[in-house]
Amino acid sequence: MKFYNTLTRKKEEFKPTGKMARMYTCGPTVYNYAHIGNFRTYLFEDILRRWLKYKGYNVKQVMNLTDVDDKTIRDSQKEGMPLKQFTEKYTNAFFEDIKTLNIEPAEVYPKATEHIKEMVEMIKVLLDKKIAYKTEDGIYFSISKFPEYGELAHIDLAQLQAGASGRVKADEYEKENAADFALWKFWDEKDGDVYWETEIGKGRPGWHIECSAMSAKHLSDAFKTGKFEPDKFMTLDIHTGGVDNIFPHHQDELAQTESCTGKKFVNYWMHSEHLLVEGKKMSKSLGNFYTLRDLIAKGFNPLAVRYLLIATHYRQKLNFTFEAVDAAKTAVQRLNDFMLRLKEAHGAKNKTEVQEAIEKAKLQFEKALDEDLEISPALAAIFDLMNLVNKHLDSHELSKEDAEKVETFMHQADSVLGVLTKEEKLAPELQKLVDEREKARQIKNWSRTDEIRDELKQHGIAVEDTPHGQRWKRILS
Ligand code: AMP
Ligand code: ZN
Repeated sequence: MKFYNTLTRKKEEFKPTGKMARMYTCGPTVYNYAHIGNFRTYLFEDILRRWLKYKGYNVKQVMNLTDVDDKTIRDSQKEGMPLKQFTEKYTNAFFEDIKTLNIEPAEVYPKATEHIKEMVEMIKVLLDKKIAYKTEDGIYFSISKFPEYGELAHIDLAQLQAGASGRVKADEYEKENAADFALWKFWDEKDGDVYWETEIGKGRPGWHIECSAMSAKHLSDAFKTGKFEPDKFMTLDIHTGGVDNIFPHHQDELAQTESCTGKKFVNYWMHSEHLLVEGKKMSKSLGNFYTLRDLIAKGFNPLAVRYLLIATHYRQKLNFTFEAVDAAKTAVQRLNDFMLRLKEAHGAKNKTEVQEAIEKAKLQFEKALDEDLEISPALAAIFDLMNLVNKHLDSHELSKEDAEKVETFMHQADSVLGVLTKEEKLAPELQKLVDEREKARQIKNWSRTDEIRDELKQHGIAVEDTPHGQRWKRILS
């Protein structure tokens, strides 16, 4: 299994440090509803964790919630709401959305505001080592004290040093403005009631130290005894985010953690490319974004949105269009229809051709995902199999046993893709209609069967007549 590592700019064989694959994924800044660009990144992480599990690894994924930073403070004040109440609203919305998108939950969701103590401990070590220094408005990390600074973001160090004379207090800034960055921001009036009284002063953390502290706490033994023991830090296996996280956020996390612990921070850095709208990054600041809720309100099915966002390789840019969501919907509907058809197989004989096709599809699916999560050949393997098996279904030659083998493979593949609907029961009143229609069918009361078909359609249920009875399915929006 190979992954592309942003640090080395190469595909590398994945070898976790222990039995457990430990991965840190930068989570949402909970100041608004996440947009589907954000979800492209969370879905890439979902596919990654599902693939690791498919391959037999135990996974510990930590996804932080940034519930204090420049943006959460700014917007909670705009809404006149206490920070905690404000961020809770969007945290809850985030959990609802990931469930809707069938994203597997991470093992831990630490909140920045609950890790101030750990951040302060790390900053104290950096102060002791004289890598951090105090000014009148905060405590800063001196990038000149970390010679490898720029390595992850591939910034030319010579150029950087020429321009890197200043300091930057804001959480977000551009590569061209690389400079000493804030670890701790002393309180000023603009922060209102958001501050912590700590040994290093009254104030709040910079965004980057939040992730250094939460990853060390939840993915290593560095805080196990309650106090910070830098030498107990354990290199993380994987750290992910969108490409915009590479600089400054991940570069700064790396500089802080490695300076503090003297150990390598992360073995495999993986970053997903952006979701674009008309060639530009989908982002809140540009206002060109859709939330999942916007799309559902427009009548799109969440599984179609999921399919759209996972079906392009994570390191390729993806342009969002409504036509593309429609095409994704068709693909999801075909897959789900196929699962229903498999239930009707009644052919007389098992066929080696089918058996071979399943093996071939499985091999291609696994080989593709092993190659840095190549998704297109993995999906092609499934659709090729489906086309072949559909032919056998058309000619009523697929045996029940073969169908069950296909089904087993489809479920295995779906443990990674997550686009098949769960087998579900109809609401009792709808089931009653379906049963009544079956009776009408048997006595050839066609006007009644048509009537019921229309009624069910209004409830989003399609019924089809097959030689072996009728079957129903949900019509995906
Ligand atoms: P934020 O809440 O702004 O910290 O972003 C959460 C995650 O979404 C980060 O990993 C970002 O890199 C990622 N992200 C933001 N915009 C996009 C986009 N247009 N496409 C893909 N990922 C994005
Ligand atoms: Zn982070």
